[in-house]
Amino acid sequence: MDTLTELADEAAGCTRCDLYARATQTVFGEGQPGAAIMLLGEQPGDQEDKQGHPFVGPAGRLLDRALDEADISRADVYVTNAVKHFKWTERGKRRIHQRPNTTEIRACGFWLDAELGAVRPRLVVLLGAVAGEAMFGSRFRVGEHRGKAEEAALGGWQGLAVTTIHPSAVLRGPDADSRDRAYAGLVSDLVVARQAAAGS
Ligand code: SF4
Repeated sequence: MDTLTELADEAAGCTRCDLYARATQTVFGEGQPGAAIMLLGEQPGDQEDKQGHPFVGPAGRLLDRALDEADISRADVYVTNAVKHFKWTERGKRRIHQRPNTTEIRACGFWLDAELGAVRPRLVVLLGAVAGEAMFGSRFRVGEHRGKAEEAALGGWQGLAVTTIHPSAVLRGPDADSRDRAYAGLVSDLVVARQAAAGS
């Protein structure tokens, strides 16, 4: 069994923070060991929680389209989240996403460190503020880091990080124009990531 499969099996029983109690299952990262690029999101959403795979809901489909446009194959990246259980609150019959707090992000950093050690990516794309907090700490602000390749280190890993928005932020845009602008920004940041990972 390879290291990532062993880690995923171990994480399936994780109780390092309280989030395991209300979620369906641990949603561990997926992709190639040795992938040059790791995509780091926030946490699984409703669909990911039910299906057990990262980025398979509406935000994941938008991310797939943006990766394709930025000329990055999802088959060549490793995709994961800073927090691996779905945190939610009830609204009517719907489960609404709740932002993980600093304690939960730190607790789940144990698994992120392990994934970084096993995949050893050259570059991590930080998809939104929670991913940024997991990498750079709680003072992180997306606007201060966005769209540039920066040196980063976490646990025993060292490499580059490129910050962008979370694909769900594109979906939340109030109108078609703002959604188009947000999507174009996401694609442009992903192009920066592809070029930096390739060393160009
Ligand atoms: S969110 Fe992370 S640290 Fe918390 S229980 Fe789930 S896997 Fe463990």
